[in-house]
Amino acid sequence: MTSYPIYFDYNATTPCDPRVVDAMLPFFSRDFGNAASRSHAYGWVAEEAVDIAREEVAALIGAEVGEIVFTSGATEAVNLAIRGVYEMYGVKGKHIITCAIEHKAVLDTCHYLESIGGEVTVLPVNRDGRIDIEELEAAIRPDTVLISIMYANNETGVIMPVKGIGNIAKKHRVLFFSDATQAVGKIPVDVLEDGIDIMSFSAHKMYGPKGVGALYVRRKDPRVKLTPLQYGGGHEKGMRSGTLNVPGIVGFGKAAEIASREMNDELVRLRGLRDELLRGLLSIEGTALNGNAEFLLPHTCNVSFGGIESQVLISHLNKHLAVSSGSACTSASLEPSYVLRALGIGDELASSSIRFSLGRFTTHEEVSRALGHVNEAVGKLRQEA
Ligand SMILES: *Cc1c(COP(=O)(O)O)cnc(C)c1O
Repeated sequence: MTSYPIYFDYNATTPCDPRVVDAMLPFFSRDFGNAASRSHAYGWVAEEAVDIAREEVAALIGAEVGEIVFTSGATEAVNLAIRGVYEMYGVKGKHIITCAIEHKAVLDTCHYLESIGGEVTVLPVNRDGRIDIEELEAAIRPDTVLISIMYANNETGVIMPVKGIGNIAKKHRVLFFSDATQAVGKIPVDVLEDGIDIMSFSAHKMYGPKGVGALYVRRKDPRVKLTPLQYGGGHEKGMRSGTLNVPGIVGFGKAAEIASREMNDELVRLRGLRDELLRGLLSIEGTALNGNAEFLLPHTCNVSFGGIESQVLISHLNKHLAVSSGSACTSASLEPSYVLRALGIGDELASSSIRFSLGRFTTHEEVSRALGHVNEAVGKLRQEA
């Protein structure tokens, strides 16, 4: 049996909370019905469980139940949002505004739309890791149909000026889509207060199962309409046909319900642990925080270790510590992170950066041990150099 290292990669995925697993289990076997079966109790039980989960997920983000579309994850939700708006609002225009540090799900969807005639403005970010609201406003054109800016970045943990973006979008009557996969369940997110029209998020980033996510689609002021990605039985108001993943959705609902209740305490606890970790890391010579600490998610920090390749440091750490040099989707590539480069961080520092992301099951003792391991590895590598 392999013994696992301390897990500091919660932004890549989280374990299912045991309470989530318990809630899901009956829906694999005893309560296995199809939520769309209207003629018998198997279907009714499944449908009721999906209804409850939809209420729990909606409540977490301040939405109405009718505004939640379940998907297979955030990637699908992002595709549905961006391609769905592009196709539905083509009469108004073909211009989309996004930014340089979005997740690949957003950037690659935008690239695809460019290949079929769309026009995309990619806003830069500043050294803090945020877009400039004035630059955003200046980029809006009469044919702009969508602003797509993430809620918080997966690599740096920096939170965007979401309310400001929402206000600008409303003022210019442009739809605002936010990929909030790293924020929902971790910090308070409220689609009304934040002025968000469409929002994607994912269960497996908030202690729910993999393979299930959601898209929030505003129903009034304005009522958003999306062209679906796939056609079929007309599930999810026609926006996402296909038999519902009932166990996954039940788990997502339970994860949302737990987050609603426990988030406020949890984020204070995690901020304390993260700050302790960050203080320890920054006391090592040649280290620097990437992004502005003022805007960080409570459980994330991204630190560069001057003069040490992150891949080398990770290979010295990964017996003890599960960390990553960036997003799980791109960490196989040896290129420095496009996110850090967009912050104006040079190639050398960008390739010496490591993301530490903490979560629900992180303990104080793990943070202390992690600091010991990092100190030891850095010391050894600097001695060898
Ligand atoms: C993880 C992540 C995604 C993709 O989510 P899946 O549910 O794994 O498809 C999209 N955007 C961001 C910001 C993420 O962190």
